[in-house]
Amino acid sequence: MQCALCQSDNFEMVSKDDAKSSMELIVSLCEKCGLIQQTPIPTDEELREYYSKDYRVDYKQSYSPKPKHVLRASRTAMQRINFLTDSGVSTGTLLDIGAGGGEFTYLSGKAGFESRGIEPNIGYSEYARNEYNCNIETGELDDIEGKYDVVTIFHVLEHLPSPIEAFKKLYQLMAEKGTLLVEVPWIETNDASPHSTYFKAHISYFSVATLSSCASQYFDVINVDTSSNLKMLFKAKKTPLALEYPNAPSVNAVKLRIKQKGWVEYLFNGKGILKPLRKLAQMVIENRVRNLTGKEIVDNYFLKSNIN
Ligand SMILES: [Zn+2]
Repeated sequence: MQCALCQSDNFEMVSKDDAKSSMELIVSLCEKCGLIQQTPIPTDEELREYYSKDYRVDYKQSYSPKPKHVLRASRTAMQRINFLTDSGVSTGTLLDIGAGGGEFTYLSGKAGFESRGIEPNIGYSEYARNEYNCNIETGELDDIEGKYDVVTIFHVLEHLPSPIEAFKKLYQLMAEKGTLLVEVPWIETNDASPHSTYFKAHISYFSVATLSSCASQYFDVINVDTSSNLKMLFKAKKTPLALEYPNAPSVNAVKLRIKQKGWVEYLFNGKGILKPLRKLAQMVIENRVRNLTGKEIVDNYFLKSNIN
């Protein structure tokens, strides 16, 4: 098979187990560009089969998130909004692709953007419309039209068979000099257990270098945040240029990083050892919102974030 980024066929295997099941899942690093990917990359047919059966996404199911999940989603949404505003992006039309339960679409609207979202899951998108009265359509990436000043796409790219094609589509949605915010799991992190890194649902595993490269025909990198996941802010190029591949030192750096990943590092450097304590503190906070509606939780969170 060929690498999804550079078309090379020279791979080194980095894992052979799916973190969620006992099934075999071969994940390899491309020796030429450093992109880590499922090998082989699933075909469209296999992906359809997987999402209709194994992934148990029931598109007709009604959805009502638990208060603690709304609280967590609000916190994540505000971190993303702060990353945008800290980078000088704070107004304009905004499209959130894969809007989920709508917390980000709603909160970014309150923060000053003219926001709308698109979400393939009927239950999630209905919930978002009913609870927050925000503009969220039920649909997929290919259903979207129009041009936006800001496009956001959180935890979607790692599921797609061709990140290059995805960036091409994203570029078509950008207004001139538009800004794109992408968030994906970060393969170089030390804040995830080594046994929960590779999943059947995730096709590509990005580093800063490989994600920049996948975007490089259409976008320039303007800001990076690796505090937990990988957030990258891009500016749309005036016209598409040739793809820039990661250089040899960055390929070697990712290779080395993957070899260092292990339990000792996770427990000590990644503060995994403190996780039980953090969980306890989280339970106390989450208990306080247990009788509130989704909208009350998100509104309270927004108010609190703005005062601090
Ligand atoms: Zn490659």
